[in-house]
Formats: sequence, C-alpha cells, structure tokens
Amino acid sequence: MAFVQVVANGSFMRPKGLSTRARAARPATVTMMAKKSVGDLSGEDLAGKKVLVRCDLNVPLDGATITDDTRVRASVPTIEYLMKNGAKVILSSHLGRPKSGPEEKFSLKPVASRLTELLGVDVTMAPDCVGEEVTSIVSSMDDGSVTLLENVRFYKEEEKNDPEFAEKLAANADMFVNDAFGTAHRAHGSTAGVTEFLKPSVSGFLLQKELDYLEGTVSNPARPFAAIVGGSKVSSKIGVIESLLAKVDKLIIGGGMVFTFLKARGLNVGSSLVEEDKLDLAKELEAKAAEKGVEFILPTDVVIADAFSADANTKVVSVEDIPDGWMGLDNGPESTKMIQEKLSECKTVIWNGPMGVFEFEAFAKGTFDIADTLAELTGKGCTTIIGGGDSVAAVEKAGLAEKMSHISTGGGASLELLEGKVLPGVAALDEN
Ligand code: AMP
Repeated sequence: MAFVQVVANGSFMRPKGLSTRARAARPATVTMMAKKSVGDLSGEDLAGKKVLVRCDLNVPLDGATITDDTRVRASVPTIEYLMKNGAKVILSSHLGRPKSGPEEKFSLKPVASRLTELLGVDVTMAPDCVGEEVTSIVSSMDDGSVTLLENVRFYKEEEKNDPEFAEKLAANADMFVNDAFGTAHRAHGSTAGVTEFLKPSVSGFLLQKELDYLEGTVSNPARPFAAIVGGSKVSSKIGVIESLLAKVDKLIIGGGMVFTFLKARGLNVGSSLVEEDKLDLAKELEAKAAEKGVEFILPTDVVIADAFSADANTKVVSVEDIPDGWMGLDNGPESTKMIQEKLSECKTVIWNGPMGVFEFEAFAKGTFDIADTLAELTGKGCTTIIGGGDSVAAVEKAGLAEKMSHISTGGGASLELLEGKVLPGVAALDEN
C-alpha cells in the first residue's frame, strides 16, 4: 500500500495533523486508485538499476542564482531513497519555456549545484537529455550516484509527447519514477511517453503524497468536511466547485467570485468584480448546494475600496450596503469570525484561492486570518489541505506552510485533480 510505504520509508513524508482514525481510514480510498509507489520497490528491486526520475526542478532563477529552491528540496526524499537503495539515479526536468532548442538561461546547471549541496554527493550535470554523450555518462555511473539530465524542453518533441523522443529518453534507464506533480496534468514525453518503454513506472514520494491528499483524503474525508474556494473568478473554479459540492458538508466562497454570487442573489455590488455571464451559473450552483444539503457560505460583510490600489480609501460594510463606485476586495471581520466558527468543528478542510486581494496589505487580513485558523485547526487534529495556486503563496507569505497537513505543489494539476479529472502523468503509472 503506497500510503503505508510512504510513512514506513521516511518520517519526512508523514502527513501532519492526521488523526489516527483519519490515517486508518485513508488506505481504503488510496486502494481505489492506488498507483505503485517508489516505496513499494525494495533494495533488491533497485540495486544497480538505472532509474529515470521525472522531477519538477522548474525553479525561479536570477541569472544562475536560484531564488527559491523549494522544488529542489522537495525532490530530495525520493532521490535519497533511490540512492540509499543502490540505484543509479538519472534525473530529468523542464525549466522555463525555451522557445526552440537549448538556451543557457534555461539550463538546469544551477540545480545540479544545489542538489550537490543538498545530497552531499557530486551530482553530474549531463550536457543533454538524450544521445550518445548521455549514454556514455550513464554507463559510467556508480550505484547510488546521481546524474541530472539537461532541460527536456530543449526538444520540442517533449511537449508533443513524440514517441521517438520518449524512447530515446527512456533508452538510458531500466525503470521510471514520476515525482513531478506540477506537470502530471500534461501528457509529455518525460511524464507519460517514457512509461511505454520502462517497467515498472511508479510514483515518487512527492507525487504519492499529492494523490494521498488531493484524491485520497478528499474522497474519503473525516467529517465535517469544508471546502474554501476563493480567488478571482467563478469561471476558473466551476469544475472544482461542482466536484467538491458532491463531497463537502460546507462550501465557503471567498475572493472576487463572491460578488457574482451576491449579485445573483439580487444585491448591489458596486464596481466589484462580477462575471455577468455567470450569474445564472452562480444561482444554479447555490441551488445545487441546497439540493445536496451542503451549507453554502458567503461573507456577510466586506472591506470595500474606492479604487483597485494598495492605498485606496477603504471601509467595512455589510454585503447589503455596497455603494456604487466601491468594490469589495476582502472579507470583513464579521465574515472572518463567522467562517472561523463554521470551520471550528471541521475535521477536514481544503482551501483553494485567497479570500481577498492579499497582495495588498489593506486587503490581506481576511486571507491571513483564515491561514492562521487552519494552522490552529491542524494542531487540533483537523486535516488541512492547501490546494495549490495563490492560497499556497498566501500561506507561505504568512510563514504557516509547515503547520498545514498538506501544501500542494501543483497549480493546474491540483485544480484538475480536484475537478476529478484523470492526470495523464498519473494514469500512465503502474497500478499497485
Ligand atoms: P485565482 O488565481 O483565481 O485563485 O485568483 C487569485 C487572485 O484573486 C489573487 O491575485 C487575488 O488578488 C485575486 N482576488 C481575490 N479577491 C479579489 C477581489 N475581491 N477582487 C478582485 N480580485 C480578487
């Protein structure tokens, strides 16, 4: 069982805030869609084997300096597990969006240096991801050593999932581990194509943890289960809202999309963000929630501003009293208190999308107060999942990332998984 293996193989992967009951409850769900995990492979399976690992090493760079190494650090547990078990570890990743062919500014070289520091062994940087030079480097690798292949997106065949390219990429390895959740929603050569040529093809610890939470816990939650869906527009979250309506007990709406729902209820929302063409949909979603017995929660007061700017004039008003010319940019204190009360009895909470324009201090309190509340709830045994995108940025900005049960590393991939879609990079892996 993948989840058990994850726990058994390293405390670094142990989900925080999961009650014993919740842990015991989760494997049943994981079994439904369980993919074989790297933790299912023993030293016997791995010793001396050439293992191609698709990581997400797409780090932000300032020249050759990595400005945020979160993704590199997150890749370490899977790499270390393979090293410890005597595998020859061949890492692949994309970085940035090279247009046509190799470009120095998109080289993975800085990542090889950072990995060398983190792993405490010299990581060899290959000049390419396919071809004779790579074959020669790989053939001289010792057991337990690590080579990083150059950016797979230096080949346009990668994003086209060209089978010949995938075959060349696979040619230097015996088996495949996919640990790149952020690109798992794309069928590319290095995420899906290579699985046609490598057996077994399994998930890495990072990918497995994303599946355990975003599929496992969400499908089989400890209840009450609340979803907080915020962000800018209803249109970008329709799939998530519809899918979660079938699973949650409470749905809390925040951010810019609040005003489409309020207008659909017949309220005046001034110059707040509204998607006029989604008013009927908003009514339908609220009606669907009522039909399913899901508590549908909108803010009762909001922080309004006379301009979309950091130094606009602001005031707090009831959602019934938004004057013309003013726009809602954050939840008010009464709403935050009400949401905190609604969350207090919950055993599982998933959050996707901020409560307001948190990038501006004047409109950040609604979002940060919810981040604080979730951190506190985690400490009391609630499973808290931050489901990708800007809510992850907000939680990190608040310095609370470590306090949540799970922070998803994939924006688009998290949304697609929460919408109930099949991710090609996951579907292509072996079943357990
Ligand atoms: P999303 O990518 O859909 O999760 O949306 C995130 C963005 O929504 C953030 O950049 C927020 O600034 C923005 N946002 C949140 N609340 C509002 C609001 N009331 N009006 C306009 N934009 C908002």
